[in-house]
Amino acid sequence: MLDTSIYQVTPGARLVLAEHDPAAKTGFEGGKTEGKLALPALNQRLSVLQERLWAESKQSLLVILQAVDTGGKDGTIRNVFSGVNPQGVRVVGFGKPSEAELARDYLWRIHQETPPDGNIKVFNRSHYEDVLVVRVHELAPETTWSRRYGHIREFERILTDEGTTIVKLFLNISKEEQRRRLQARLDKPDKHWKFNKADLADRARWDDYQRAYEDAISETSTEYAPWHIVPADRKWYRDLVAASIVIAALERMNPRYPEPEDGLDSLEIT
Ligand code: ADP
Repeated sequence: MLDTSIYQVTPGARLVLAEHDPAAKTGFEGGKTEGKLALPALNQRLSVLQERLWAESKQSLLVILQAVDTGGKDGTIRNVFSGVNPQGVRVVGFGKPSEAELARDYLWRIHQETPPDGNIKVFNRSHYEDVLVVRVHELAPETTWSRRYGHIREFERILTDEGTTIVKLFLNISKEEQRRRLQARLDKPDKHWKFNKADLADRARWDDYQRAYEDAISETSTEYAPWHIVPADRKWYRDLVAASIVIAALERMNPRYPEPEDGLDSLEIT
């Protein structure tokens, strides 16, 4: 398995995205073909760990995925969790808040979706939007969004204290790779459904988003819930890194099958 510790953002350190190569494939000998062949073994390992987590039912895993548009959140979820029992894994996307959600604090809708014991939840976008899109599009004043870093650290502290392990992944693509992916969506009629003109307005604010991500990640990469910067220009490498990070977290959680009831050895079904 890849050594993914190099992608972890050291708590307290200042993240500079320009220092992270989105096209890296560090630690992997070989290219796309070999990379794709390496994934099923990781899916299998993840599947076994997920079954142990489910059987034990005493702790949970929350995977938070953030990326700019076309960053590959959907593909990562599909590929990393391929073959894992869907019973214990839920994906939840957070889009524009509804009226009812806007009438509450921004963590209200998030907290309702945190994973119960035995489960894995994947957040496709998350409470981080409340310090990203909200900041870049000035949906709230700086005094409001800037104090949210502290709330988020505390919120994630509560979750980890109470038995949820949090894995935070930023899928890091380059501006040029985003251009290619958007163009590819335009070029293929069967991908037009994925094309959203609003994405172009966000692309125009690329630098603002990079700055917002740097601040958000620097402020909220903690010992108990660190961020990882996943090189994501090469989809196959992104999948290997994301899967390896999730597996490493589950291995640290080390879920155990519950003790069987007494006397099962001598039982025979008639
Ligand atoms: P995705 O782009 O993740 O595949 P959508 O196309 O449904 O999913 O986009 C979700 C949109 O909702 C994004 O533009 C995102 O910025 C926006 N969004 C998410 N959370 C918030 C929030 N708290 N406030 C405003 N907009 C948000």
